[in-house]
Amino acid sequence: MATYDDWKVFKWYCPNCGNLVSGCQNGNGEIKVLCKKCSTKMIRLIRSSVHETIEVYAPDEQADDCDYRNAI
Ligand SMILES: [Zn+2]
Repeated sequence: MATYDDWKVFKWYCPNCGNLVSGCQNGNGEIKVLCKKCSTKMIRLIRSSVHETIEVYAPDEQADDCDYRNAI
């Protein structure tokens, strides 16, 4: 049976545009979120009680002209 912790809502600000995003954990312990403002995809992984990772995927239209790619 689902406990209260299973339905905890995680909120943070989109690193790309600053919009407040929120999501719930799925069965794999990931929180997958799509920013409604800039379409950035994020996957937040709870590694332990003191370690979290947020993977950020820029929207396609920003990928081609980002500074990182231009520098290579
Ligand atoms: Zn955003």
